[in-house]
Amino acid sequence: MEAKLISGKEISQKIRTEIKEKVQALKANGVIPGLAVVLVGEDPASKVYVASKEKACTEVGMHSEIHRISESTSQNELIDLIDKLNKDSKIHGILVQLPLPKHLDEKEVILKISPEKDVDGFHPINTGKLLVGEKTFEACTPKGCMRLIKETGIEIAGKKAVVVGRSNIVGKPIALMLLAQNATVTICHSKTKNLSEEIKAADILIAAIGKPNFITAEMIKPGAIVIDVGINRLENGKLTGDVEFEGAKEVASFITPVPGGVGPMTIAMLLENTLEAAQSI
Ligand code: NDP
Repeated sequence: MEAKLISGKEISQKIRTEIKEKVQALKANGVIPGLAVVLVGEDPASKVYVASKEKACTEVGMHSEIHRISESTSQNELIDLIDKLNKDSKIHGILVQLPLPKHLDEKEVILKISPEKDVDGFHPINTGKLLVGEKTFEACTPKGCMRLIKETGIEIAGKKAVVVGRSNIVGKPIALMLLAQNATVTICHSKTKNLSEEIKAADILIAAIGKPNFITAEMIKPGAIVIDVGINRLENGKLTGDVEFEGAKEVASFITPVPGGVGPMTIAMLLENTLEAAQSI
């Protein structure tokens, strides 16, 4: 039987509608949730992401400001801006669009964001809280993946979850989130031996590799839930995931499409984190 599609597009729309209502309620109490996005330089992909974040904020009635900074900005100038935003009471969430130009120190910049305003969930205080199981701002993409798994209605506890990819922004945090939900988690990466065997054991498979159509149908356990984080642009301009979708949907029980799967959830989770930041003041 063909897998059920987990539509991030539809689920994120539902979440955005709920957020809009909660923003209205906060506004009635005199609080307008505010997100500041810092964009350094002219990276075309970053510009697109930032524009869609601003649009999403405006649609749910949040205050949004984009700080566009020249490519040649210094570390000190950037940190001064972060300091200002940390102190700005209109701003509840701060997001620095990554990657930064090479001459800037990303780690230091993230460290300067107040953890209470770190709606991207990248500050070491927040990643540390995730590690020890405390409530925190969870990174948006893995948080969105967890929401998609929840939508299947399948219990995570006791399942074997395999995460392919160990980046700090996707692979590692989602592994921790699955562990917190009592999955038995394996993290795979480029040095993993017998990768196909590891993947084949997965009841829940997370692909966060960045290689188009890398995981094929025969690698997937029949009935698995497949969450494809990968966003890869092919030469013909089409977007595709890390999973070979047409084959995989014949084997999996649930599967996310690319586009329209994890991607839209990332922005919905950013809005949710910003709302939570505003609610907690
Ligand atoms: P990274 O490049 O930081 O990490 C990729 C991971 O995949 C690494 O851990 C790497 O292993 C592993 N890997 C690479 N090749 C192989 C291989 N042959 N076998 C096994 N593992 C391998 O990527 P990100 O985590 O930032 O992103 C992953 C994908 O998700 C990308 O396509 C990205 O565009 C997409 N993405 C989508 C988002 C969304 O909103 N939907 C948000 C963020 C990312 P090693 O550590 O050993 O090098």
